[in-house]
Amino acid sequence: MKIGLPRALLYYRYGDFWRRFLTELGAEVVLSRKTDRVLVQDGVTRVPGEVCLPIKIVAGHLAELAGRVDAVFFPRLVWQEDRLYGCPKMIGIVDIARMMYGSAPRLIAPAIKGGLFWPHFRAGLEVNPNPAAVLRAWRRSASLLRRTEVEPSLPEGERRVALIGHFYNIGDDYIADALVRAFVDRGYRIVTKEELPRRVLRSRTGFAGKIRWTYERELYNAFMYLKQRVDGVCVVISMGCGPDSLVAELMREEAERQGLPFLQLVIDEHTGTAGLVTRIEAFVDLSRRRVRAAA
Ligand code: SF4
Repeated sequence: MKIGLPRALLYYRYGDFWRRFLTELGAEVVLSRKTDRVLVQDGVTRVPGEVCLPIKIVAGHLAELAGRVDAVFFPRLVWQEDRLYGCPKMIGIVDIARMMYGSAPRLIAPAIKGGLFWPHFRAGLEVNPNPAAVLRAWRRSASLLRRTEVEPSLPEGERRVALIGHFYNIGDDYIADALVRAFVDRGYRIVTKEELPRRVLRSRTGFAGKIRWTYERELYNAFMYLKQRVDGVCVVISMGCGPDSLVAELMREEAERQGLPFLQLVIDEHTGTAGLVTRIEAFVDLSRRRVRAAA
């Protein structure tokens, strides 16, 4: 059976695991191509205009797989431990996928509510009806779910910027490549939340305990952990994302209190690379001046 995986959203966290799990079940895994302008423009036509860029992008990836595969594997994150929820748009895109596809390709969309094992076990049976084979596939792939518990090495004297954004934005080269290069070319090391231990990202300390969106809590905790370990913070948020704009505002206030250079980039399908790079140049200048003034 050919099973498609959209290279978007949760793929950037679970993709390696899903590929191994499905392959172990005997499926031929087909990835949608990397995000490009044509794919984004296609996605834009398939969802309401006011939704965020990541949802438009995933719609493009879903469309790209139609006609090429027997089924599409597209889990839906409803909530994880500690009752931390996925955002409504992320949950709802699965229903849009069902409408897009109709009866083919078949959608395998387990709902994750709590742990990952049971939804994957049941979804695995849709690919391979042998429960022992599904259990074996899980055992052989589950190690790819492990997150680091080691704090990153952040040596003195290194120029660093925290690039705070969702993994599906920062992980997608179409969105983040120009940003990353703009910092790296100017001598900065980028630190993202993906380098931080799970216990840091899931911490309930302080205001984080009140945040009920799973990935927004990660953004906030990453900011709180990194704010005293970097020379500046660049937050990437999606136009049309309510949770992002709320959490970004909290970060901006805290950065101002601390006198930390703070840049907020709002992205949508019209965002041009040149404009972003110009803003990053100004931010880097400000950050350098602050460092010189403090020396
Ligand atoms: S959290 Fe925000 S950016 Fe992410 S899918 Fe939901 S609305 Fe879009």
